[in-house]
Amino acid sequence: MATQLAQTYADLGLFIAGEWVPAGERRCSPVVNPATEEIIGQLPHATTADLDRALVAAERGFRAWRAVFPDQRGRILKRAAELLRARAEEIARTATIESGKRIAETRIELAASANIFEWYAEEGRRAYGRVLPQRSPGTRLAVIKEPVGPVAAFAPWNFPLGNPARKIGSALGAGCSCILKPAEETPASALAVARCLEEAGLPPGVLSVVFGVPAEISTHLLASPIIRKISFTGSIPVGKHLMKLAAEGMKRTTMELGGHAPVLVFDDVDVDQVVDACVGAKYRNAGQVCVSPTRFYVHEKIYSRFVSGFAERAKAIPVGDGLDEKNQMGPLIHERRLAAITELVEDARKAGARVQAGGARLRSPGYFYAPTALSDVPNTARLMNEEPFGPVAAINSFSDFDSVIQQANRLPYGLAAFAFTGSARRAKLVGEQLEAGMVGVNTFAISVPESPFGGVKESGHGSEEGIEGLEACLVTKFISEA
Ligand code: NAD
Repeated sequence: MATQLAQTYADLGLFIAGEWVPAGERRCSPVVNPATEEIIGQLPHATTADLDRALVAAERGFRAWRAVFPDQRGRILKRAAELLRARAEEIARTATIESGKRIAETRIELAASANIFEWYAEEGRRAYGRVLPQRSPGTRLAVIKEPVGPVAAFAPWNFPLGNPARKIGSALGAGCSCILKPAEETPASALAVARCLEEAGLPPGVLSVVFGVPAEISTHLLASPIIRKISFTGSIPVGKHLMKLAAEGMKRTTMELGGHAPVLVFDDVDVDQVVDACVGAKYRNAGQVCVSPTRFYVHEKIYSRFVSGFAERAKAIPVGDGLDEKNQMGPLIHERRLAAITELVEDARKAGARVQAGGARLRSPGYFYAPTALSDVPNTARLMNEEPFGPVAAINSFSDFDSVIQQANRLPYGLAAFAFTGSARRAKLVGEQLEAGMVGVNTFAISVPESPFGGVKESGHGSEEGIEGLEACLVTKFISEA
């Protein structure tokens, strides 16, 4: 459907070896605005020859980039951050059109992406090694850090700017080259990030951006000996599959996989304040966030007040096109997510859960699902065991500390966990006892560029951001001089 929006959206293509590659004769897939279901662009898929060119470019780009001193690498990353900020409104709008996320959130995401580049610009200068005490005179025992090599990175659609920024930032900050495969749902955001890096002076080949059938691209790239590291954000089954491919070539991996975050709400809190915070966090990006709070465990003394307050606020959320500033929640990314959420809610309803708010698809066109709150959800419901990745809150009550910790930790997920309490001692205990890579106590803010972001258990391994994010793209070498 040729509309004015389609014309103003973006030129889509590939970015390989410093060149912008148009569709030409390549196979294309449509890009859809999830708020309107309009086709807004045609995305070219990389051919095998394109992927091979990207691999050769990544090898050459790596040799060139690792020879650039960290100070100069940092200058380029900082310039890219400035360009992102200068184009903030245009890029945020693009990200909203293709992801459905409301524009207030894509603006924040853009600012965070610029901050990530600045963080890695600085942190790259601190890839310190160490000198060990001698064992005999005239010798030197040195430990140095080197970039691991070309990185293949796979970024999903839920943070169309932030996910690419994290993956590119860590690789480039450490001196690695990177082939990025962003999500086919949100290509223009990733291309806008690449454009800023190119214009900031990134040498050709250090970054390539390719699209296609995800499994075909990952199979091809991971089979190449040129790729030394894989960074993936997405679902646990795909993460496990990519780890098997990575094992063939003994490649390093960073796996940021799904979560099913528990939220423990004790009876010593200001209930209204905590409900406000919980509702805000739950419906951010329509719940399509890996650290989204999903299982709410509320002390029995405040349970009914919490449930009614939560439901009341959920029902009042204006849902619609993210470009309209008055809307507080946008659509889901595609029809498949809508079907998945519908199934999970129906299953929970059949298992005995009580629907307190929402529970159905909203008007179409657009992949809108109502902000949904279910209470009294039995553990047998799929919703209590599978990552929902949508605007659905499961709320249950608890009576004692040990049993709620056991409930919170009962799943194989371990990405984020949250607790709200007025007790300093309980705050320490939950921090220690919740099995998660990130724990928010009296807050849902668990991600800044200087903090490690990553999970434990089946939620993955390795961290993005923080000094750990840089370390994940470095290898250790010991040099003994006699
Ligand atoms: P999906 O599994 O088809 O895709 C999820 C992401 O993985 C996409 O970006 C896709 O391009 C990529 N992917 C899939 N197969 C791949 C492969 N073989 N090689 C490389 N990349 C591959 O599912 P979907 O319907 O788009 O998203 C739903 C599920 O994905 C959710 O249930 C959630 O668990 C997961 N997800 C997680 C995150 C996260 O931040 N951890 C983000 C997006 C999606």
